[in-house]
Amino acid sequence: MTGYQGDAPFPGFGVPPLSKTMPPAHPFDDDKLHEECGIFGVIGVADAANFVALGLHALQHRGQEAGGIVTHDAETGFAFARRMGLVRDNFTSHEVMKTLPGTLGIGHVRYSTAGAKGQTALRDVQPFFGELAMGGVAVAHNGNITNALSLRRELIDRGSIFQSSSDTECIIHLMARSMGRTISDRLEEALRKVDGAFSIVAMTNTRLMGCRDPLGVRPLVLGRVGEGWALASETCALDIIGADFVREIAPGEMVVISAENGVESHYPFRPQKPRFCIFEHVYFSRPDSILDGRSVYETREAIGRELAKEAPVEAELVCPVPDSGTPAAIGYSLQSGIPYAMGIIRNQYMGRTFIEPTEQIRNMGVRLKLNVNRALIKGKRVILVDDSVVRGTTSRKIKEMILDAGAAEVHFRIASPPTAWPCFYGVDTPQREKLLAATMSEDEMREHLGVNSLRFISLDGLYRAVGQARGRDRAQPQYCDACFSGDYPVAPADMVEKGFQMKTAAE
Ligand code: SF4
Repeated sequence: MTGYQGDAPFPGFGVPPLSKTMPPAHPFDDDKLHEECGIFGVIGVADAANFVALGLHALQHRGQEAGGIVTHDAETGFAFARRMGLVRDNFTSHEVMKTLPGTLGIGHVRYSTAGAKGQTALRDVQPFFGELAMGGVAVAHNGNITNALSLRRELIDRGSIFQSSSDTECIIHLMARSMGRTISDRLEEALRKVDGAFSIVAMTNTRLMGCRDPLGVRPLVLGRVGEGWALASETCALDIIGADFVREIAPGEMVVISAENGVESHYPFRPQKPRFCIFEHVYFSRPDSILDGRSVYETREAIGRELAKEAPVEAELVCPVPDSGTPAAIGYSLQSGIPYAMGIIRNQYMGRTFIEPTEQIRNMGVRLKLNVNRALIKGKRVILVDDSVVRGTTSRKIKEMILDAGAAEVHFRIASPPTAWPCFYGVDTPQREKLLAATMSEDEMREHLGVNSLRFISLDGLYRAVGQARGRDRAQPQYCDACFSGDYPVAPADMVEKGFQMKTAAE
C-alpha cells in the first residue's frame, strides 16, 4: 500500500506549521563553512520515526535549518512530515510522531544553500517523495549534483514538472523516466546520470537503500540495530540509537536492505580512485564519529601535533577557538609542551536567547557567543588554534577580544590549509572573492587580522595527520581537497556555466 499519509497534503506542497524556535546558527556564525545535510535511514525496528528523529538529532551539526522524515507502515502506507527548524523542536511531540507510523523510515536535516538562508522554502526540505509505476519512493541526499542545471533543463523539456528548486529532485524524475524493472534498478540508472557528490538514503515500502558516489566524497555508514539495519551520515548517529557500527558504505557502492535478503551490495559505477572530503576530518564530522577506521577526535589531535611541528612559536598558553578548534589545540599543546587552557569560553545557550536579533545585538557579534577568560590571558603570549579561516571576520574579532583582555601577543595557528576555493560538493561556501585566502597572501592575511603570527597547516601536513605518511600524492590525490588546492575531482559543470573560473595553469 503506498497511499500518502501524514500531516502535509502532499510532499512538496502544503505548509505545516513553522517551529516556534528557528535555528540559532546563522546570525553570529557565518564565518565558517557549513555542511549542508545529514541523512539517516532505518529498517526493521518498531517505531522507525523515533529512531530517525534521534539519528537526525545526532546529525544536527550538519544542518540546522530544516528537517524531514518519511516512514512506511504496512497498513497505512507512506507518511511524511517536514518542518523548518531543529529536530528537537519538531520531532519530539507525540502529536507529530504518531503521524509517522511504521518499521521503515528515512530522514534528512538541511542547512540551506547560500541564496535561501533563513527562508528555505518548505518545498525544498527533504526527503522527496514520488509515486512511480511500481510504488512510492522517498529520497534524501547529502552532497551536490554538479550537473543538476543541465539535467533539470533536459527533464523539463521532456515534460517533468518540478516541485522544488533542489538538485535532489532530479533523481526522482530520472527514476520516473527509467525503464528499470525495480525501484532499485531505477535508482541505479538515475544515479549513473548524475555527477558530483551524493550520499543518498532512499526507501520503498519494503526496502531501505543507500548509495555513495563513485569518489565517495561524502560519508555514509551502515549499522546493525537489533534485527534491523541503519544507514547514517556519521557513526555518532548510530551510537545514539544503540546500533553497532558495521562498516562504511564503500565509494560507488549501493546497498539494498530488506527483511528477506538483508544487505545486498551493488556497484553501479565505473570504479574510480576514492576522493573523500578531507574537510570532514578537519571540521564537519563530529569528533566522536569514526572516519576511515579512526576517531575524528584522534585525527584532529594529530592535525594539531603536525601543526606544532610545522609552525612552532614561543608562548605561554595554547587556547582553542571553541568548540571546533579544541582537539587540534590539545594536539598542539601535547606536541609543543606549551600548556593548554580554555582561554575563550563559548556560551552554549546564546542562540536560543536571541531568536530574532536586533541590529544592536547583531553588532555585539562574536561577543555574544564567545567570551575571553581574562584571568588566564592577561600578560600572556597566546597561541589560538582554530579549524579554518574563511572570511576572517570572526578571527579579527577574537584577536581584538584577546588583546582587550591584556594578552601580550596573539599567534593564530590554523588546522587546515588556506581556504581559497569554494566547495561545490554540498558545503555552503562564500563566493571565491569573499574567501580571505583567495585574495591575500599568508603575510597579507596576518596583517589584515592584526596578529603577531599566522600559520596554516600545509596540505602535506594535513594528509600526514589523516594517515597518509607520505603526504599528498600530487598525481592522484587521495582525498578531495579542492577548497584548498582548486583541484576539483568532478568538474563543477553548473558553476562553470554560470561563469566560475577554474584554476589556471599559472595558479
Ligand atoms: S571542496 Fe573542500 S569541503 Fe568540499 S568536498 Fe572537497 S574537501 Fe570537502
